[in-house]
Amino acid sequence: MGAENERTGEAMAHRVAEDLRITVEDRQRRLEAHQAAIRACTACVAAGFIPESRPVFRGHTGQRIMVIGQAPAEHREENPIPYSGASGRTLRRWLAQAGFPEDALHERCYLTSLTKCFPGPSRSGKGDRAPSAREIALCRPHLEGEIALVQPEVILALGRLASTYFVGNRPLAQLVGQSFTHGTAVVVPLPHPSGVSHWLNVPAHRALLDRALTLLDAIRRERGL
Ligand code: SF4
Repeated sequence: MGAENERTGEAMAHRVAEDLRITVEDRQRRLEAHQAAIRACTACVAAGFIPESRPVFRGHTGQRIMVIGQAPAEHREENPIPYSGASGRTLRRWLAQAGFPEDALHERCYLTSLTKCFPGPSRSGKGDRAPSAREIALCRPHLEGEIALVQPEVILALGRLASTYFVGNRPLAQLVGQSFTHGTAVVVPLPHPSGVSHWLNVPAHRALLDRALTLLDAIRRERGL
């Protein structure tokens, strides 16, 4: 079931990626169909990773920035708003430092993650479990389809897992403060805004975050985001 879903998802991502000449309206229609397929996905349940699937993401094709985290937090709502808690407050503060208005996170950004379902708590009890490589692979066609259809100009990759998804397995300290490319998008790695991460307790890492937000401010001005 999981492998079949992965094959189906890969075929779907390939189909949406191969035709970049479709209109904005067509892209939006195809994105909505893709989002419906994500909402119906139970691949990680079938593979035994999670007890139930409740995919979380939000956005449309008009958004020029895509925020990609690791996995969503736990929720019980039918249509949860991503980044509506503490992580979202931190992220809004970072975006304000980069010159964006207060509502930019939820108005201008497509919000998604490497895996779309809450992975459960970590064994240590501190924070959420990081999704495994297999779970990221199962959900990859969903993310690749979102990227192919939304066609973001800028991708904000939150935390080590999301950052290394685009640039290979390197320490976050070698990534934050720099930009990379993924297709036609500029990738800006950022730390994860979760309060569980201690990465920003290191003064040198805070300086890297400041550099990343200065870089994002320059990209915002240059592209009129
Ligand atoms: S995390 Fe992704 S692949 Fe796994 S069940 Fe949720 S939507 Fe499907």
